[in-house]
Amino acid sequence: MEQLTRPAPGVLEWREVAEPDLRGPLEALVRPVVVATCDLDHPIASGLTPIPGEVAMGHEGIAEVVAVGDGVASVRPGDRVIVSFQISCGTCDRCRRGQTGSCRRVPPGAMYGFGAFGGGDWGGFLSDVVRVPYADAMLVPVPEELDPAAIASASDNLPDAWRCVAPHLRADPTADVLVMGGGGRSIGLYAAGIAVALGARRVRYADDDAGRLAVASDLGAEAVEIDRTEAKLKPRAGIVVDAGASPQSLACACRSVAPGGHCTHIGVIYEVETPIPLLEMYSTGVTLTASRAMARPLIDEVLALAGTGRFRPELVTDRVLPWREAQTALLQPHTKLVFTRG
Ligand SMILES: [Zn+2]
Ligand SMILES: [Zn+2]
Repeated sequence: MEQLTRPAPGVLEWREVAEPDLRGPLEALVRPVVVATCDLDHPIASGLTPIPGEVAMGHEGIAEVVAVGDGVASVRPGDRVIVSFQISCGTCDRCRRGQTGSCRRVPPGAMYGFGAFGGGDWGGFLSDVVRVPYADAMLVPVPEELDPAAIASASDNLPDAWRCVAPHLRADPTADVLVMGGGGRSIGLYAAGIAVALGARRVRYADDDAGRLAVASDLGAEAVEIDRTEAKLKPRAGIVVDAGASPQSLACACRSVAPGGHCTHIGVIYEVETPIPLLEMYSTGVTLTASRAMARPLIDEVLALAGTGRFRPELVTDRVLPWREAQTALLQPHTKLVFTRG
């Protein structure tokens, strides 16, 4: 079968590789048909991350079920499904607590699209066939009424954005939301759009890129132009999302939290230690969350919100392209691309 492979940083090739087989009764084989870029795909493809070695690219998308093991109950061949990017059994104690990115039955960090860095090589979605080890736990049927290209990021970036704002708005519906965008390019915009759709009183999106600021406005957020030198943004907000992926952005985000509020840091910073304004955070009473998304339990909520029409994730997508253009397009900067089979 054909697989888009990064043999080395900065190089992408369509390669012939062996097709995966079913290895047990709980497994499924799926054929990806609509694949979105994750905010990390361009950095991985281009060698802007420390992720080493050969990588089968792609870990967000919608697939058609090709075959299932005898023990699979929730999907059948022909079904269209969202495939969670993290490999999770759904039944261990961590999965039951929602920590599906840390499942005990697979190596730490097991996921598609990251090569050996992702807890062993599980393949990537820009491939003809992908093996899903726990089909009932990892596959979510796609509602008929939703446009697959709009929700292809439901594997990863959409639930990542959801967890930055939705639980905190539930806890305090009166809180203002501030998103520092630019690093996690689509996640920051999705977070702003989700907060607007959930009825947040005020949603601001801060960035130095005119294109993303325009998208934020289209999503219903207030666009705030910044130049990346700000120590803090005023007025402070009870819910802050740091998608800036830089120490400056993180510090600014932490200082921009209103008393008793919450900051979620999602943009990956590859330093071993990163300074934060701890005294100021202590004085203000800031809770800082720094974690990977635990995608699977949130996919259903993301799809339900998209189904209301109040949140339009397609506004974040730059372009929908033919499948084979992934080879060149992934190496060019973008916010969100979607690749579809012809
Ligand atoms: Zn990702
Ligand atoms: Zn598990």
